[in-house]
Amino acid sequence: MPETPPPRRARAEIDLGALRANVRTLRARVAPHVRIMAVVKADAYGHGAVRCARAALKAGADWLGTATPHEALALRAAGITDVPVMCWLWTPGDPWGLGIKAGLDMSVSGMWALREVVAAAEATGNRARIQLKADTGLGRNGCQPADWPELVTEALDAQARGLVKVTGLWSHFACADEPYHPSIAAQLDVFRSMLDHAEKAGVEPEVRHIANSPATLTLPEAHFDLVRPGIALYGLSPGPKLGTGAELGLRPVMSLKGSVALVKQVPAGHGVSYGHHYVTEGETTLGLVPLGYADGVPRHASGRGPVLVGGRVRTVAGRVAMDQFVVDLGGDTPEPGAEAVLFGSGERGEPTAEDWAAAAGTIAYEIVTRIGARVPRLCVDSGN
Ligand SMILES: *Cc1c(COP(=O)(O)O)cnc(C)c1O
Repeated sequence: MPETPPPRRARAEIDLGALRANVRTLRARVAPHVRIMAVVKADAYGHGAVRCARAALKAGADWLGTATPHEALALRAAGITDVPVMCWLWTPGDPWGLGIKAGLDMSVSGMWALREVVAAAEATGNRARIQLKADTGLGRNGCQPADWPELVTEALDAQARGLVKVTGLWSHFACADEPYHPSIAAQLDVFRSMLDHAEKAGVEPEVRHIANSPATLTLPEAHFDLVRPGIALYGLSPGPKLGTGAELGLRPVMSLKGSVALVKQVPAGHGVSYGHHYVTEGETTLGLVPLGYADGVPRHASGRGPVLVGGRVRTVAGRVAMDQFVVDLGGDTPEPGAEAVLFGSGERGEPTAEDWAAAAGTIAYEIVTRIGARVPRLCVDSGN
């Protein structure tokens, strides 16, 4: 059978040159001794984990980070074997033994995890690299201060038996994207005292770390030995309070584009899309954009999402459907097949993922990460 040509309908262009530039921008924001862990969880926020991991390493990242062990193992399976890879979201029964064999740095937040990793080390005969996670105030994963002494003691005991090596002590912020939020200083205080306890007990960590993108960009006192940027690698702002990605000196990596599938004239008073939430005011032209919520276009952006078509930014008219939505072209008549840019770098007048986040009442993280599997990723490279 002949190979099916790539679809004309839609594509997400991934600019690895922009990603490399973002890594260098972050590198310039941290002291020379600070290591950079490129966070490539969730398929690199929808951008493609392996290609983004390789580009980030090429531009000077030192570590890779994922949420699940399966994501980390996939990086190893793809041939990324010579850099430290950490993963932090473990569930009982997960493959600790494979993690040990793959040389992963495995996060331990509580006693159940320590018991499982120790059992896997005994079974495989190899020492596990573990990083103890402190809950310094996020209230999500991590070990509470009250339980920390026990976890540290038991981990050191397993280390003395040659079963684990405690390679890191780490935590995560709740509100780093809100500069001066009182929880930031409070978490740093708790982190320092939990570090102090562990180090006095005898832990000699290779790395201590707490900084995500917003803390990497705004909070040098939180950099310690390593920073863990995710969203900033992909050129997007962690949140409106920090400004746009462009204002932070970042370049968006993903552009989401489609081809207009139909252009047609309609009379005044014509309802558009499910529910008829948009009705044409006068005679106008409509353009059909063949992307929908199955592709990750948020239905919450119905009536609001911005799209560049024919040199002008239009607004989604009516509801975003599963596979398609409509824009009111206001009488313009671009050719069917014309490019529709939902978001991109913003340098050519197109909206950004941050604009879509505002239109959908969410964060830019969710916009790029949810772009669906039906949208092919196409690597482009703006150079540098
Ligand atoms: C996702 C994640 C990061 C990266 O966060 P950004 O805000 O995208 O920089 C860092 N650390 C942990 C534990 C994470 O889960």
